[in-house]
Amino acid sequence: METKTSLLDNMIGVGDMVLLEPLNEDTFINNLKKRFDHSEIYTYIGSVVISLNPYRSLPIYSPEKVEEYRNRNFYELSPHIFALSDEAYRSLRDQDKDQCILITGESGAGKTEASKLVMSYVAAVCGKGAEVNQVKEQLLQSNPVLEAFGNAKTVRNDNSSRFGKYMDIEFDFKGDPLGGVISNYLLEKSRVVKQPRGERNFHIFYQILSGGSEDLLCKSYAYTVFLFQIIFTTDASIFVSLVCLLPFKLLLLIITIMRLKEICELTGIDQSVLERAFSFRTVEAKQEKVSTTLNVAQAYYARDALAKNLYSRLFSWLVTRINESIKTKVRKKVMGVLDIYGFEIFEENSFEQFIINYCNEKLQQIFIELTLKEEQEEYIREGIEWTHIEYFNNAIICDLIENNQTGILAMLDEECLRPGTVTDDTFLEKLNQICATHQHFESRMSKCSRFLNDTSLPHCCFRIQHYAGKVMYQVEGFVDKNNDLLYRDLSQAMWKANHSLIKDLFPEGNPAKINLKRPPTAGSQFKASVATLMKNLQTKNPNYIRCIKPNDKKAAHIFNDALVCHQVRYLGLLENVRVRRAGYAFRQPYEPCLERYKMLCKQTWPHWRGPARDGVKVLFNDLEIPEEEYSFGRSKIFIRNPRTLFKLEDLRKQRL
Ligand code: ADP
Ligand code: MG
Repeated sequence: METKTSLLDNMIGVGDMVLLEPLNEDTFINNLKKRFDHSEIYTYIGSVVISLNPYRSLPIYSPEKVEEYRNRNFYELSPHIFALSDEAYRSLRDQDKDQCILITGESGAGKTEASKLVMSYVAAVCGKGAEVNQVKEQLLQSNPVLEAFGNAKTVRNDNSSRFGKYMDIEFDFKGDPLGGVISNYLLEKSRVVKQPRGERNFHIFYQILSGGSEDLLCKSYAYTVFLFQIIFTTDASIFVSLVCLLPFKLLLLIITIMRLKEICELTGIDQSVLERAFSFRTVEAKQEKVSTTLNVAQAYYARDALAKNLYSRLFSWLVTRINESIKTKVRKKVMGVLDIYGFEIFEENSFEQFIINYCNEKLQQIFIELTLKEEQEEYIREGIEWTHIEYFNNAIICDLIENNQTGILAMLDEECLRPGTVTDDTFLEKLNQICATHQHFESRMSKCSRFLNDTSLPHCCFRIQHYAGKVMYQVEGFVDKNNDLLYRDLSQAMWKANHSLIKDLFPEGNPAKINLKRPPTAGSQFKASVATLMKNLQTKNPNYIRCIKPNDKKAAHIFNDALVCHQVRYLGLLENVRVRRAGYAFRQPYEPCLERYKMLCKQTWPHWRGPARDGVKVLFNDLEIPEEEYSFGRSKIFIRNPRTLFKLEDLRKQRL
């Protein structure tokens, strides 16, 4: 029997952080660095995969590699994203357990690439045949379409996803793919109207401009500033495949939105209707209808709001269309892949960071829950006594944000819905009153005097101590972004379009269905979709990929210690190792364990005739390993401290 345990053989550094001795931030980072310098970009924490972005193409994803990892045990080969993918797929196919792959990390860390690698691995190893291949093709093809509309070049990443994505891939009982469902989260729609310096609008605009025929193109590109210098060379070819799918005239409408005449021509909205909608705001309350004239700034605001709404609704429409085409009737087993923004701590953090960090707080919560649950289940399965694990439970921070009465989101909503003058400052005042005494909330204005002299905390900010670290949020823009207001005059005008898609995109503009209740705020919508996501994930067996960006130059071979350290901290990776080895750091089935170490004991060498479990018992007794250092499970030996394992390894090396 081949007993390869590559986690121990020829390993650069340690392949699994649970074996790291001593364990601290320095040793953790050094281990990553050492491995990175030897092109080993993957490292485990137990079953979690840490992935460092190599920023160069490595020869580790070939069909031969797929074959190498196929049907092998997780610990047999060196750490790889394929090992995780294989484990997840086999457990889905053979043990009937729904899986989810949770990929987190900051922008540019390699999340989207990782999700594509998982999908392509699964596509390579699951069923064959014309029909199955067509399903695979459809699933894989949804990526470029969504990327065209949802990705953009940013300072951090040339192909940055500006939306969160969760995709359920559905399989039949044999493990052949049937189809899928995609959910999208929080598209960064403000990019449509304004891009940070040095960044671009969504790819699709450039694809249209470089691939569209002359008469499609128009001369005023109100929102795309750095246009022609930076058009990708590949854009034209992608465009060809997209062109049949999309109502691209609508996009032209967005980029030319300043020209009323063209909008009206494209949509069939009466020009006078639209003119009026851009000039007035009507507020309806009970029996009354009051129209006020918009000033110039308000009119621009209304225009931008329309562009943003149109684009994000179009994006959701696109997701719905894709879902219709990959929909399945029966679903047996599911593998979910989550590619979502990681924790964001910028110099200036606003509503978007707040929402994103909230999502990560929730993901951390289920991470802890599921990891502990998984540990506990393995202990029960193996008949090993459960050791209580001390860990920080971040439920208290989630509560600070999402509590229905006193949570920050609830207070923001309350402020947004309150009559009278509402500003970001009145919102902050409210926070100061209600959250002042919360352990994880800090503000200089709060009734609590703890932070009165903290000059690092400006008056217009509040700070939250997230599980990953403290983040200071600028309160400016919170109310407006949460309101996400599209004046009813505009939705009503859009609903009057002849263009059936546009009409459908603005159902609230239908006067027959007038609803005085305002649409849900951005915050409450997000909270609801996060809750749905969590519920979905909780029913599945989790597999984690934690992506890390080694430098912010998008360059190969550079490992910036400080940058990596920052990410290791806010991904909570050390805590992760601690939880993993709080009970037993290492576990291994009896057979390979006996095979590997039987040479260390006369009674087990060269052959042990009885059950492997007994052999390991004899071996450990003979080597006088202290009893408190290990436990005998039903099928595995559990070793408490990595040092014990290293001792065995040293003895083995001396004999070889
Ligand atoms: P994220 O989704 O986390 O923002 P991406 O997955 O888009 O980041 O990765 C950013 C870029 O880094 C990619 O466009 C690619 O050039 C490079 N990259 C990421 N992962 C890998 C990998 N495994 N191998 C080679 N290059 C990679
Ligand atoms: Mg991405």
